[in-house]
Amino acid sequence: MSAHVSRQVLADWLNDVLQPERFRDYCPNGLQVQGRDEIRRIVTGVTASQALIEAAVAQDADAILVHHGWFWKNEDPCIRGTKHRRLTALMARELNLFAYHLPLDAHLEWGNNAQLARVMDWVPDRRADGAPRRCGPDDLVWLGAPARDLTVGALAADVARRLGREPLVIGDPARPVRRLAWCTGAAQGMLDAALAAGADCYVSGEISEPTVHLARETGAAYLSAGHHATERYGVQALGAAVEARFGVPCTFVDIDNPV
Ligand SMILES: [Zn+2]
Repeated sequence: MSAHVSRQVLADWLNDVLQPERFRDYCPNGLQVQGRDEIRRIVTGVTASQALIEAAVAQDADAILVHHGWFWKNEDPCIRGTKHRRLTALMARELNLFAYHLPLDAHLEWGNNAQLARVMDWVPDRRADGAPRRCGPDDLVWLGAPARDLTVGALAADVARRLGREPLVIGDPARPVRRLAWCTGAAQGMLDAALAAGADCYVSGEISEPTVHLARETGAAYLSAGHHATERYGVQALGAAVEARFGVPCTFVDIDNPV
């Protein structure tokens, strides 16, 4: 008999390891849409888009596990249009939808920030107790340095090579990177926290018009490395952990997104 896990056991285990109650988030974390009781195959992805649901159906999955789920604060709660199509596709097949937003950015081992450091070969600063040094709201911004000395330009080339996407660079490419801070996704609002913690180079997924000026005026370098590109790794690490724990295959499906 192939490995399987019940929806309830998986939901409890995910909540145990990711501790969503510790975060003030913009969406519900955990089981967002209930599907069938037994789970034998899981598809993971960055965002619960229609394309990801279709990929999960094609793979005969029983659950989808994502970083960006549904039911965001301030969105129209009515089930119409794209939302109706997504929900119908999911529920017609009794697919479970699990989503973890901030808890999956922040997790010390499988989180997007921890995993981006692994993929990029960045060394987090450590506190006296060994935990990575972080700052900002919910401790989401990580602090550290590249494993070898790099200029801003060389760091950008490294990001392009390892993430497969050219970052947008604000600042002097010839300047050396001394203290690096990073936060995946739409984390442009945390530039101040990163600078206050001593960073002279900040990497996040997105950038906004005002952030460009802030970065220029402080002299810090800013690399906007892609929301999707920086957030592909947490859910893959979590999927590997689920697979190791329950023996249920988790397949990551990358739905390309240039932002
Ligand atoms: Zn995100």
